[in-house]
Amino acid sequence: MSAPGGIYVHIPFCLTRCGYCDFNAYAGLEGLRPRYLAALFREADLAAPAWVGTEFVSVFLGGGTPTTMEPADLRALLSHLRERFEMVPDTEVTIEANPDTVTEASLSRLLEAGFARLSIGAQSFDPAVLRSLERIHQPTSVRAAVAAARRAGFPNLSLDLIYGANGESLGSWRRTLDETLALGPEHVSAYALTIEPATALGRQVAAGQVPGPDPDLQADMFLLACEVLGDAGYAHYEISNWARPGFECVHNLGYWERRPYVGLGAGAHAYRDDVRWWNVRPPETYMEKVESGELPIGGSESLDPSDAYLEEVFLKLRILQGVPASWFDAGRYEPYLQSGLLVDDFGQLVPTERGMLLLNELVLGLTAG
Ligand code: SF4
Repeated sequence: MSAPGGIYVHIPFCLTRCGYCDFNAYAGLEGLRPRYLAALFREADLAAPAWVGTEFVSVFLGGGTPTTMEPADLRALLSHLRERFEMVPDTEVTIEANPDTVTEASLSRLLEAGFARLSIGAQSFDPAVLRSLERIHQPTSVRAAVAAARRAGFPNLSLDLIYGANGESLGSWRRTLDETLALGPEHVSAYALTIEPATALGRQVAAGQVPGPDPDLQADMFLLACEVLGDAGYAHYEISNWARPGFECVHNLGYWERRPYVGLGAGAHAYRDDVRWWNVRPPETYMEKVESGELPIGGSESLDPSDAYLEEVFLKLRILQGVPASWFDAGRYEPYLQSGLLVDDFGQLVPTERGMLLLNELVLGLTAG
């Protein structure tokens, strides 16, 4: 039996397109949903034989906005995956949700279907920040979605936050963190806003119409998140992720621990044994390929041993597991211990919160030529 695996399923449909988003997501393609669902079933049939012998411990429906699909369709999809892939009895099953696309009734149906972990895209509790991100939901929709999920019986909720949008102050970010805590999620993800050139926001920043994020302010926001979430009892288990004990995301840990995963859907990525491959991105092309009985692979790359080593160092630092000091000459890491970017935890080099802000520099410094 190989290492336990994960299944990622990409649902590319969204209600609107947010200005900062460079995910493979589309507004206005709802009409494709039945055909897309059929393509996912077919792709699972085509992909599964190559994964015989892998036991799966997680399924993650991401997007896009998976909750734009009907709960009955999502239920059928999960059942199909369970038939095609070997899953452990307590497989973690996550679905991402946009607060405006769920109700207590739809969430009850999803929970009953086996989606026991709900990841809600909250982003901020400041209406001005949500506007600046071009999110169409309001803070009240997040509160309503969380309340509906709890009434439906969801035992495991995650809230996703983004910090550093234009106009967001440290005070506003503090209020977002406080409001998040008030909702009592089991898990919190907090990502610094990054500007992707091929997005509407990227073009506005390039044209000087909107200022890009201030890295110093984002660093202060990161440190504030560490303090506020840490004080509230959340364990910081990956640079951008915090969880109540026992609620770390099994699926995402799989990516960071370099465990195998299969990706289904337009643009989805897969990984096994130092090889990464990905599906074609446009939903139409994806469906055409699958419908003709072909795996819809758009490209692949093999990591050579030195790339694999770099990736391993980076990821081990990222999940705060640390890397064995014995992998490096002392001269490499001593300066970082002295400057407080790394600590030596019983022979493991682990980044401090300040070290996490300079992770790329740390990896380069530890591993360069
Ligand atoms: S809802 Fe999420 S996936 Fe969809 S456009 Fe907005 S940020 Fe992108």
